[in-house]
Amino acid sequence: AERRRLAAGSGPGRTSDGHPVELLLNIGSAADLGGGVEAEGVGLFRTEFLFLGRRDAPGFEEQVAAYEAVLRAFPGGKVVIRTLDAGTDKPLPFLDLPQEPNPALGVRGLRVGRVRPGVLDVQLDAIAEAARASGTRPWVMAPMVTTVAEAEAFAVRARERGITRVGAMIEVPAAALRADRLLRGLDFLSIGTNDLSQYAFAADRQHGELADLLDPWQPGLLRLVGECARAGRAAGKPVGVCGEAAADPLLAAVLAGLGVTSLSMSAPGVAAVREELARRSLARCEADARAALDADDPAVARDTVARETVARE
Ligand code: PEP
Ligand code: MG
Repeated sequence: AERRRLAAGSGPGRTSDGHPVELLLNIGSAADLGGGVEAEGVGLFRTEFLFLGRRDAPGFEEQVAAYEAVLRAFPGGKVVIRTLDAGTDKPLPFLDLPQEPNPALGVRGLRVGRVRPGVLDVQLDAIAEAARASGTRPWVMAPMVTTVAEAEAFAVRARERGITRVGAMIEVPAAALRADRLLRGLDFLSIGTNDLSQYAFAADRQHGELADLLDPWQPGLLRLVGECARAGRAAGKPVGVCGEAAADPLLAAVLAGLGVTSLSMSAPGVAAVREELARRSLARCEADARAALDADDPAVARDTVARETVARE
């Protein structure tokens, strides 16, 4: 067992029988890439950190420099840049958006483009320039995509700038249910389980009292993830998970079993997820996924997979 553990201690994510599951990082800036964590790239670059707490939007040049720094850190690897995810819950003074009674249901994420289209234009210009300057081809996705029309409009704006890998985050249940249609016009999807839980379970993600509803082992959430992964497999396009769920090693195995092709998490989670995946075959992950989907509630789902895991050791 010790030898297996050492072998699993670095390198790409793989099940014991060699099925690849890309292990990627969630970051807010190039500074998060220090510390020598071994990952295959960046699965979620939250660009809003560049915009937070500012009176004026960062200009084109400043944005190019920030994106280029991250792209140059993984010259041969994957880097997924998420366009600005702002709204009244992550207030940005320069956007000057009105207060809303239900900010999580309001003008946030990609929807900010309805009232301030110029912000996304400058950002996409800067991403395209950073790609050119670094000689890389980033993956670029929008947050809070809800409809096929929104996805298509975003894809047009990105592609007309020469961005070739365009995707959407799946954070809204309606989008998960239309994953197959979204993928007709996109190159990839990335499931944000933090928001997808919030919207699927009608439970504020900040609300401590509702933590049981926000548990990423909720079979209802897993079914939505499975729907997206199935669409990805049918289209031959990657579908990843970039919410906190990806950092739970047992759940990571379930997600791989559902057909998710990459798992993106903050740096401290990577090693344990790599190790857990290396301990089980893809068929085992698929059996775990079926068991979790079949459970009546999240505690039963987690316990069933954990018990199976112990039983096999
Ligand atoms: C998510 O919603 O799961 C996600 C990854 O995005 P954020 O946490 O930045 O909202
Ligand atoms: Mg989100």
